[in-house]
Amino acid sequence: MGRVLIIGAGGVGTVVAHKVAQNADVFTDIMLASRTKSKCDAIAKAIGGNRIKTAQVDADNVDELVALFNDFKPEIVINVALPYQDLTIMDACLIAGVNYLDTANYEPKDEAHFEYSWQWAYQDKFKEAGLTAILGCGFDPGVSGVYTAYAAKHHFDEIHYLDIVDCNAGDHHKAFATNFNPEINIREVTQKGKYYENGEWVITEPHQIHKPLNYPNIGPKESYVIYHEELESLVKNYPTLKRARFWMTFGQEYLTHLRVIQNIGMARIDEIDYNGQKIVPIQFLKAVLPNPGDLGENYTGETSIGCRIRGIKDGKERTYYVYNNCSHEAAYKETGAQGVSYTTGVPAMIGAMMFLKGEWKNPGVNNVEDFNPDPFMEQLNKQGLPWVEVFDGDLEL
Ligand code: NDP
Repeated sequence: MGRVLIIGAGGVGTVVAHKVAQNADVFTDIMLASRTKSKCDAIAKAIGGNRIKTAQVDADNVDELVALFNDFKPEIVINVALPYQDLTIMDACLIAGVNYLDTANYEPKDEAHFEYSWQWAYQDKFKEAGLTAILGCGFDPGVSGVYTAYAAKHHFDEIHYLDIVDCNAGDHHKAFATNFNPEINIREVTQKGKYYENGEWVITEPHQIHKPLNYPNIGPKESYVIYHEELESLVKNYPTLKRARFWMTFGQEYLTHLRVIQNIGMARIDEIDYNGQKIVPIQFLKAVLPNPGDLGENYTGETSIGCRIRGIKDGKERTYYVYNNCSHEAAYKETGAQGVSYTTGVPAMIGAMMFLKGEWKNPGVNNVEDFNPDPFMEQLNKQGLPWVEVFDGDLEL
């Protein structure tokens, strides 16, 4: 039915490759390409059955991408390389006539800046080319937007308060490690806090607002308001929202390490001179930190990510909480990657499946909540990320 090209062979790429291979009725031809081909080969070998072709590509280079696209002729590209490559891959898609999906908004390398403007600017080009681009189709962004769309469609007349709550209660038994690419992760969590209230963005110091929230099957965990990119599209698409926030749990040990990393300058993203060589401290730090893709083996515990929503239905106030809990051990057993990669890779596969099945097809640049959430929600239950709904409970918020 469909030819798919996956770009990026890290933790998330590993999961996408496994899940795409499991759905052979939809994904008939699969290629995995990345900067380091040996990583693609190792993933293809672990999956077996000669299901996956592999290739080397520098996704910063549009010409190389176009040559690869023209050779393999994918219908859709799943971009799970880094946010830095979003625009070059989108450019190559336009030249070669390929549809596009990613899990994180474009970021310039020299500026930790999280917004959709660069990618939304491609709207007319994708529309005119008759190509669909699906932005932010991991868990958050991704499932968080689909959950919100599903709630708006089935359970509310108006959504007023949205709190996306992201808890990782897993233990990887390392003093400090990040669950996805360290450079991207540290850039994200050290930025100022930001949330939306009464038509305005409120800026806070990093980690200024926090409180313990209860997570199902986990219990109370200190949770911090940080900025997360899906807030930008959700407040635009749901104008009845009075407030929208994103909460993430961090352990004390993690925060202490983070503070030290920042204080000693290792989180810097500008170039410095080291023995006559230019290096970017955060990139050097990445090279010495544990590889997130290798955390899976001893990872215990689970993640719990969901949306807590307050609004009105039939003139009455109602609350709604929809969430998924994902076990790191079960994710590792199935794909060889930990739960954070799993919760990102499964929705990326489902988004591509939605496109190939014709459920999510709309020339232009789309965020996930622009599409019908129902078939996606159905697949979440089938593909390893089942969800639970709680009506009219205490949201604690
Ligand atoms: P990793 O660092 O583990 O993997 C990134 C992969 O991309 C590596 O294989 C890397 O190659 C490859 N890559 C990097 N630069 C290039 C390039 N120029 N050309 C080709 N390949 C390149 O990251 P993760 O797997 O943890 O994360 C992947 C993406 O998922 C990120 O964009 C991240 O922001 C996003 N994400 C989204 C989440 C969500 O819920 N929406 C949650 C978690 C992550 P090499 O092996 O050679 O370094």
